[in-house]
Parts: sequence; C-alpha cells; structure tokens
Amino acid sequence: MQIELVAYTQPNPALSAEAMSGFSDVATLWQGKGTFAENVIEYAGRVCYRSTERMGTAPEFIAARVREGHEDIIEHIVVTVRVIGSDAPLRWRLLNRHCEISDLGAGAWLVSGNTRVWLDFFRQGIALEALPFLKAVAPAVFAEYPTVSNGRWAIDDAVAHHPSLAPVQDGPMRVTLLGYTQPTLDDPAHLLHHGAATFFFEGISRACTHQLVRHRLASFSQESQRYVDLTKGGWNAIVPAEIARRPEAMALLAEFWAQAEQQYAALRALGIRKEDARFLLPNAAETRIVTTMNFAAWSHFFWLRAVDKAAQWEIRQMAQYALRMLYTVAPAVFQEHWNVYQERFEEREK
Ligand SMILES: Cc1cc2nc3c(=O)[nH]c(=O)nc-3n(C[C@H](O)[C@H](O)[C@H](O)COP(=O)(O)OP(=O)(O)OC[C@H]3O[C@@H](n4cnc5c(N)ncnc54)[C@H](O)[C@@H]3O)c2cc1C
Repeated sequence: MQIELVAYTQPNPALSAEAMSGFSDVATLWQGKGTFAENVIEYAGRVCYRSTERMGTAPEFIAARVREGHEDIIEHIVVTVRVIGSDAPLRWRLLNRHCEISDLGAGAWLVSGNTRVWLDFFRQGIALEALPFLKAVAPAVFAEYPTVSNGRWAIDDAVAHHPSLAPVQDGPMRVTLLGYTQPTLDDPAHLLHHGAATFFFEGISRACTHQLVRHRLASFSQESQRYVDLTKGGWNAIVPAEIARRPEAMALLAEFWAQAEQQYAALRALGIRKEDARFLLPNAAETRIVTTMNFAAWSHFFWLRAVDKAAQWEIRQMAQYALRMLYTVAPAVFQEHWNVYQERFEEREK
C-alpha cells in the first residue's frame, strides 16, 4: 500500500497577528511555538480555559490534554491522504465512522480524518503508513510515536488574500475563519466530504451556541463556565435587538443580569465552586466557540441556519457571515446557498 498526503488544514491567508491585533485574542495564535495545526489545537484548548494569553508557554499543553481525555481540541485539524493499491480504507471506515472515504477507482481511495481520527487509527495499529505525514503536521498530537522520516509532499496552494475572508465584527458578534482545507481533486464532487473549515465564533449567547452544538457532524471547543469566574471579568449579556430598542424591556433584562451577577458573587463568597455557581447563569451569557465541520456538514448547517427564514436571528446572522467566507473559499460547493441567501436576504435589503 502506498500513501500520499493530499491536503491538510491551512491558515486563512487573511489573518495575521497584525491584522488580528485589537480585534480579539485570536492574535495570540501567533504566539504558539508549534506548527499552524498545533497552534490551532492549543488555541482551541486555551479558549476553553480562558488562558489564551499563555499561548506558547507550555510545550506539553496538547499532550497533557490528550492524556486527560480533553480530545475535542484535536478535532479541528483535518488531513486528507490518497491510498493507492489497497482497499484497506473500507475497513478503516468500519473501525472509525468519523473519517470520510471516497473510492477513486483502480484500488485508490481518498481518506480524510481529523487528527483525533488518525490518532485512533494508529492506536488500533492501522493506517500506520500515514504516520510520517501526521507526525509532521501536528507532532504534539502524535507524541507517543517516535519521529520518522517525512519525505516530501505538496500542500494546498492557499487562496490569494481576499477581503471576504477577513474576520467580521457586528455588535458583540465576531466571526473568524481560522483555517480550511480544500484538496485539489480530479473529481470536484469529492470536495464536499474532504473539504473542511474551522471558525471561531465570539460574542454570542449560550442560547445561540446551544443551537449550534445540536449539529452532530461537527467538532466544538467552547469556553467552559467551570473555569471562568463571572465576578472576575466573567461574561457580558448578549442583548437581542428587539429588547435593546425598547427601553422598558431593556431595563428588565439589565435588572435581571445585575441580579444574576450579584447572586453569583454571593454564591462564590459562600465558597460555592464556579461549576455550581454557574447554574444561575441565563441563556444571555456570552460565550466563544471554535467549530470545525467538513463542507457537507457546513452545507447542511447553512441550509438550516443561514438561508432559512425560520432560523433564529442570532445563529442566522452568524451563519450568514460564515457562508459569505466559505462561498469565497469554495464557490462551487456553496453557490446554491449563496444564490438563495442573496435572493431571500440581500435583495430585500437593497
Ligand atoms: C428552525 C429550527 C427549529 C428547531 N426547533 C427545535 C426544537 O424545538 N427542539 C429541538 O430539540 N430541536 C430543534 N431544532 C434542532 C433540529 O432538530 C436539529 O437537532 C438541529 O438543527 C441539527 O440538525 P440535524 O439534526 O438536521 O443535522 P446534524 O446534526 O447537523 O447532522 C447532519 C445530518 O446527518 C444525519 N444525522 C446525524 N446524526 C444522525 C443520527 N443520529 N441519525 C440519523 N441521521 C443522522 C442527518 O441526515 C442530518 O441531517 C430546530 C432546528 C431548526 C433549524
């Protein structure tokens, strides 16, 4: 069996430490000391613990998270290989359903999986021919395996810088495309399952992320309310426009939120742990979440959440910004969504 590296998650070319400075702490991504893949993984982990200012300070950070079972963070980097001369990928798919395989004919297969999938393969003693590539993309994830020679391979050509890929801020909401993988394939139909993108959504409510995390074919790393203290900088409340524009409604929400903050502090003063004090936090509590899906899952998400008028306003707004960016990255995949979006939303706004 022969294995060739086809593609893996690349940085959004519109992002840089300078471009992100003052926008959000995404700028700390460039403090990371690893490969881009490792930096994204560390960043996703640090978002959970609100410790992004410590990016790059602990070489063991990723390996320690993997050991303790906080493994969602290694799901944000996707690696695609071509397998030649074996039908082994059929068996791999049976052993781990979170990979994508496509039959290229004549005993060749395209296999995509995130680094958690690949680690699982290696631990089962399969697909080991791919280890050198994975070890080069994200060495810290595969620290339990010795380093092997990498060989050479081609990586994606990053799309030229495009203004539509720049992060967006709208009120408290921030949408940043961290990276994506878009293998160049003979048959573009395969792109749906082998392309993937990672977004960072900030300044959104728990009500919004509760809807987002219902999408099961996805990977999430969300700021934990167990580790962040509301009384020490905590969170803000996300306020729906409908409430904000009516002073009497706004007063009710503000009063409730002030009381929640006060009672939270009172619980903490009684020695109640953060993980219990958070029980009184409302749906309005602001949160942040790193989200990765392949293009097929984004496609489904956009149909439900970006272009359907039944979608709730906050997740719809967020999904529409994400659609705009992925349409720029992969117009062939998201053309239909874009057409419907324009017809239903943009035309009306003109
Ligand atoms: C307008 C709107 C209103 C909603 N209201 C409610 C509500 O009142 N209460 C509520 O609980 N939820 C509600 N939801 C959530 C909704 O039911 C879904 O849970 C959510 O949108 C995730 O989408 P999904 O299940 O289609 O697909 P995903 O989880 O994104 O999965 C993608 C696709 O994979 C397949 N799939 C994934 N997992 C399975 C599985 N286990 N079995 C079979 N196929 C699978 C399906 O084809 C699915 O479409 C609402 C959603 C919308 C958009």
